[in-house]
Amino acid sequence: MEIGPLHVDATAESISEMDRLGDEIAELSAHLDAATARLLDLIREFDAGGGWNNGFSSCAHWLSCRAGIDMGAARERVRVARALGVLPRLADALARGELSYAKVRALTRVATPETEERLLAVGKAGTACHVEQIVRGWRRVDHLAEARETAHRQKSRALHVYQDVDGMVVVRGRLTPEVGAVLMQALAAARETLYQRARGTGAPAIPAADVPAETPSMAQQQADALGLLAETALRHGIDPGAPGERYQVVVHVDASVLANPEEAGQSVLEGGTHVSAETSRRLACDATRVIMRHDADGRIMEVGARTRTIPPALRRALYHRDGGCRFPGCGVSFGQGHHIRHWANGGPTTLSNLAMLCRRHHRAVHEEGYQVERWPDGELRFTRPDGRPLHNVPLPPAVPDDPVQALRARNEAAGLHLHGRTACPGWQGERLDVGYAIDVLHPRAIGR
Ligand SMILES: [Zn+2]
Ligand SMILES: [Zn+2]
Repeated sequence: MEIGPLHVDATAESISEMDRLGDEIAELSAHLDAATARLLDLIREFDAGGGWNNGFSSCAHWLSCRAGIDMGAARERVRVARALGVLPRLADALARGELSYAKVRALTRVATPETEERLLAVGKAGTACHVEQIVRGWRRVDHLAEARETAHRQKSRALHVYQDVDGMVVVRGRLTPEVGAVLMQALAAARETLYQRARGTGAPAIPAADVPAETPSMAQQQADALGLLAETALRHGIDPGAPGERYQVVVHVDASVLANPEEAGQSVLEGGTHVSAETSRRLACDATRVIMRHDADGRIMEVGARTRTIPPALRRALYHRDGGCRFPGCGVSFGQGHHIRHWANGGPTTLSNLAMLCRRHHRAVHEEGYQVERWPDGELRFTRPDGRPLHNVPLPPAVPDDPVQALRARNEAAGLHLHGRTACPGWQGERLDVGYAIDVLHPRAIGR
């Protein structure tokens, strides 16, 4: 005799028992979907109000930490919650338990206020599988249109350099946004160098073309800056270098300010922008530093060697020990070394005085009033700006003894009368023709 799940003696009694069980599953699922709508409303409000912004880098991080769901699902919930804010019909169908969360999640990937009505009809008529297929087809049409635009932009990149009749060289072109951003940043840096040179304050890197006495126009400055870029590139070889070296920030800060932010003294970015003493302390916490001593008139007396605050071997040990940002609930896998007691205050650069923090949380600790300490047991303790502790593991929420009954009661109190067929699709078993469905539904597919 074979034993398997298919060999159940079907009696009239067991059939009706299974029907009842099936109805109960479908009904409870509808209750959960209705509750999910409420959950998403709360998430949307919490997200918009920035309720998560107390040490977490995003609403999804907060949700993942507090509700114990994986990051992918947490991001998805925040995305759907935001989308439903402008899609009231889909939100309403979910809240009534008529459309499952799975269908709503799929539909919100493509729905806009203009197409919502049509997509709601798709959701109600089709099974979850049909909805998924239609959304995939829909996105393909969207992607094709987008890819065509990107390809067109990429293809239209060009730089024309030619000599005009009077001997001047004309430059005209179209760059992709990324390349354009790098060029604009480089031009700005070169303009700044030329400006410093003109004022006689910066040490000239290259004795380049003369800067005229009267203030040049922006266009003239850009032309000079491009010249400097070309010269610099040829002189130093065309080597983009490591990404960390490409964009570095130079801060001039007095040693007294670094040790005590209350102290008067200078703390300015190269170029003259003032930054707070706390920001200088953060930038200096894990940085390459060059110590220059000035005399009373500001003349440089002595320039020390360029050193990393945290030497490479120690940094490797720190990465290995901490494995990512140590801020409770963060989990970002790369970061900066934070001196728990700042080196400017005599804190040693040792493993026990360092903790890895991501950029966002390094800022939180230096500039937003969060505190971190290492206790004698070796554990890190974080506190909020108001002094309350931040727990590594959040406290579990209170759950009623019979959560299912509580959920039903709440939905019924809200006027929902759900049953086993509430979320049933209108589908009668006919074959789904995705191509045809997209052609008649998608606004960009018409006349394709
Ligand atoms: Zn730090
Ligand atoms: Zn972090």
